[in-house]
Amino acid sequence: MRLVGIIGGLSWESTAEYYRLLNGEVALRLGGLSSARVVLSSVDFSWYAQRMKAGLWEEIGAALVEEGLRLARAGAEAIVIATNTMHLFAGEIEAAAGLPVLHIADAAGQAMVDAGLRRAGLLGTIFTMEKDFYRDRLRARFGIETIIPPPAERKAVDAIIFDELCRGIFRDESRLRLREIALGLAKEGAEGIILGCTELPLVMKDGDLPLAYLDTTRLHVKAAADFMVHTGPQKDA
Ligand code: GLU
Repeated sequence: MRLVGIIGGLSWESTAEYYRLLNGEVALRLGGLSSARVVLSSVDFSWYAQRMKAGLWEEIGAALVEEGLRLARAGAEAIVIATNTMHLFAGEIEAAAGLPVLHIADAAGQAMVDAGLRRAGLLGTIFTMEKDFYRDRLRARFGIETIIPPPAERKAVDAIIFDELCRGIFRDESRLRLREIALGLAKEGAEGIILGCTELPLVMKDGDLPLAYLDTTRLHVKAAADFMVHTGPQKDA
């Protein structure tokens, strides 16, 4: 089994889920007592959150590159960045570490294609929704068009992520608000909703709405498990 390095702690609430799901997916593929070969570098989220707010993206990128190098030194054969937002630096991390980054947007895009869906509603941090890196990749590699909510709703989603979900606070009121925002995207023509933040699946579950949720945590974990056991599609670039 190949060794995967995870950059985690962004936030630890979702990284814990990555660890749990990854072990489950490996056991599913290999059976018996099989479990995931993982090296985890878990960071202090508050350091990153402060810099995101201040727009100090260069500092963030440099720190994440260090994490990638740490995982390479530890013998990782591929890197999993356990957050959508920080895929902003996927290219830099990949180049510096000399290892493939198993890109979370590719997992989401492939799932959209497999389900025959072309237009996605995208929910995530304000950065994932508003910056180009995520939406461009979905369009360029998978032909997926994305729709994002209006500005006030983008702020609301971002606040729920940072003020609640990343702190382990799960409120029914927020779950309903997210559902309502997702429904708005469906009305705009979204055929599926990409839960493009690894904390969103902690409160948004399939069956909430009459359209599919694409859970990026679960899809990313499946891609990592495929890589580990050599059975699934692997990243080619
Ligand atoms: N885990 C989140 C994501 O998937 C947000 C935290 C972060 O900004 O990294 O984007």
